[in-house]
Amino acid sequence: MLCQPMNLQFFRNKIESLRTQGLLRTLLHRECNGPGHHGSAAIISIGTKHLVNFSSNDYLGLSGHPRLVSAATEALAACGVGAAASRLLAGGTTHHRQLETEVALFKGTGAAIVFNSGYTANTSVIPALAGKDAVIFSDELNHASIVDGCRLSRGKKVVYRHCDASHLKELLSREDSAVDRLIVTDSIFSMDGDIAPLDRIYDVCKSTVGQNPGQTILYIDDAHGTGVLGNGRGALAHFGLTPEPWIVQMGTFSKALGSFGAYVAADPTLVEWLVNSCRGLIYSTALPPSVIAASSAALALVSADRELTAKLWRNRQRLYDGVITKGFRTTQSRSPIIPVLPPYPGSSEREDHLAATLRLADLLCREGIYAPAIRPPTVPVPRIRFTVTAAHSDEDIDYLLDVLSRFA
Ligand SMILES: *Cc1c(COP(=O)(O)O)cnc(C)c1O
Repeated sequence: MLCQPMNLQFFRNKIESLRTQGLLRTLLHRECNGPGHHGSAAIISIGTKHLVNFSSNDYLGLSGHPRLVSAATEALAACGVGAAASRLLAGGTTHHRQLETEVALFKGTGAAIVFNSGYTANTSVIPALAGKDAVIFSDELNHASIVDGCRLSRGKKVVYRHCDASHLKELLSREDSAVDRLIVTDSIFSMDGDIAPLDRIYDVCKSTVGQNPGQTILYIDDAHGTGVLGNGRGALAHFGLTPEPWIVQMGTFSKALGSFGAYVAADPTLVEWLVNSCRGLIYSTALPPSVIAASSAALALVSADRELTAKLWRNRQRLYDGVITKGFRTTQSRSPIIPVLPPYPGSSEREDHLAATLRLADLLCREGIYAPAIRPPTVPVPRIRFTVTAAHSDEDIDYLLDVLSRFA
């Protein structure tokens, strides 16, 4: 008799159940040699098909930018491929140090530290800042990596209503005993494209700062805001707020900056603590120097060229206005993330929301537009989530709007 160490049927049943609910996820692989690579960053090539890409986080079209490519190539030649060790074992190079200096300057903080990804940063930094005596206050729509970071913390977790600073204030006042408080929020919410009311959250936090005997830290995940908001400098700059010792700004190089990895910009003391406590930093190999050099090049471009972000926002306005004019329902989007939600103008009252969304996704795909459906459990309400970038032309945007108006 064959030895069966594992019952695959258990997993087959689970997969089958996802399939019948229309919730099965599959991976799609794009070509790298198509025009989407070094040609137009707005095109994605899948097999022999070229589609206009309305689902990319490459907001400034920098991932194929010649400056990033040459910076990475030079570092690759000089430093080799892998970093060979964790930062704690000198896996970091002078490129890493330089990038951290540049990030601190760019963000106006005393220090910064690079993490291997946004996911790693959130799952490492949140537990490092919120120990067992802490209470974490988290927006209900925070990114999955924040949710996971909260789970890894041994502190108490409290969830406040989405973007509701009054609710946050109320919950904070219920926890005013001897505890440390960590307030965590996305800046731009990745599935709705709305922006956290950081001005009001700032005021709420500030009123508790120094409240004895606990302390307050505001942790902002600026993954979608970096390179996008505040002339590229991020959400704090967008709200005209200045860094404070009690504010920790996390962001990524993997979205608008077209590279890979993440940063935390904060007070030097906090950064030193993170170096000494973040498991995702201590127990993981440093990012390759080529990736770090590309991130530096991207920061330099964003700092020097305001037109990059200006173009992004003009495109954002064109798509947003068009979507509204066509009668589509959207979220409180204030960013280049513009979801359209059911019921769609072209679907009947009775059509199931998921079915209508998949039908719209299918039409878009057939007409050469890449913008897949986002389904539960990622979001409660299925949707097509469009992201617009500086790489789109007016024609790209108008074409999308034209296809949308054909949905029936
Ligand atoms: C994308 C994203 C992350 C994860 O960043 P990666 O560098 O892709 O791991 C974290 N937080 C938010 C809000 C994000 O949108």
